[in-house]
Amino acid sequence: MKYDRSFNFSAGPAMMPEPVLEEIAAEMLNYRGSGMCVMEMSHRDKAFEEIRDQAEADLRELMGIPDNYKVLFVQGGGTLQFAMVAANLMKNGVACYVETGSWSKKAISEAKKYGQVKVVASSADKNFSYIPDCSDLDIPDDADYVYICENETINGTTFFELPNTKGKILVSDQSSMFLSRPCDVSKYGLIWAGVQKNVGPAGMAVVIVREDLLRDDLDPKTPTYLSYKIHADNDSMYNTPNCWSIYCCGKVFRYLMDNGGLEGVAKRNEEKAAILYDYLDESKLFTAPVEKKDRSLMNVPFVTPTKEQDAAVVAATKAAGFDNLKGHKTVGGLRASIYNAMPKEGVQALVDFLRKYEAENA
Ligand SMILES: *Cc1c(COP(=O)(O)O)cnc(C)c1O
Repeated sequence: MKYDRSFNFSAGPAMMPEPVLEEIAAEMLNYRGSGMCVMEMSHRDKAFEEIRDQAEADLRELMGIPDNYKVLFVQGGGTLQFAMVAANLMKNGVACYVETGSWSKKAISEAKKYGQVKVVASSADKNFSYIPDCSDLDIPDDADYVYICENETINGTTFFELPNTKGKILVSDQSSMFLSRPCDVSKYGLIWAGVQKNVGPAGMAVVIVREDLLRDDLDPKTPTYLSYKIHADNDSMYNTPNCWSIYCCGKVFRYLMDNGGLEGVAKRNEEKAAILYDYLDESKLFTAPVEKKDRSLMNVPFVTPTKEQDAAVVAATKAAGFDNLKGHKTVGGLRASIYNAMPKEGVQALVDFLRKYEAENA
């Protein structure tokens, strides 16, 4: 390989497209004749304003975001959104959450600080190995929204069908699947995504929010920074934004547009995931615990029969140049995160390695 880069299966921060990294490297010392790096630039500089505006315009085109939605670039990563969603959208103080794993549980516990949380469906009974039926949820009349984690990064499940919210606003954490497939934004009230899983550098979330949900009557003790309306009214420049992340994410948006858009990337992601799941399903050593219909195309957890063997496989993959295959500490086993930027060759090489390992250790 040109740069001797590893196949990095990290759940996040994760791989970025190599051509994007090359472009960033080329602009590092002198961004397009400005005489400075983007990291050194004033966020009020015209050159940076253009970077921000272009990033938003490209994301709008890429996802087909309707005009009545705002696009915000907010600091605080994914975790701040657990609070921000509840602080901004809990008007009646009642919200419905679907509990599908680690990240929805975190969202639930944070939302409880702001109001009453009703868990309307859960897959806790089977270790979060499936997506519960959400076609007929018991949603109270005064519920402000229905919340899902659309792809559970740790548990490896994904919603292929959105819940029937019975007219209530749908809020989705898309962090670990953002831009991995086409998305009809008009079906949501709010989508947010921490960008370090599938887009760019950590420390920022993209928030796509329907305009009519922006409020200026929040609890007066709410920190100013937590108001979506403040960010919307100031084009995400209320304070110094995460300029570097916006710049890098903008490059990834453009890269996706130039490479078949979301349809193109979805097709590549389906092919990649199939290579890995097909092998795991035929393997006698490994098991993929998630129900087939709900399997994530981005995060693929799998296990051997014992913890000791799990650890041995992780060590063997690491020695062979495959990084970050250890499962999350809360679930153990192994996990291959195969986001947009993981090339098909990386998945194929991993499967070839695991197959050989299995044959040698049978
Ligand atoms: C990683 C992740 C988060 C948290 O993101 P941070 O930026 O680390 O706070 C939230 N939700 C999902 C689905 C994630 O994968």
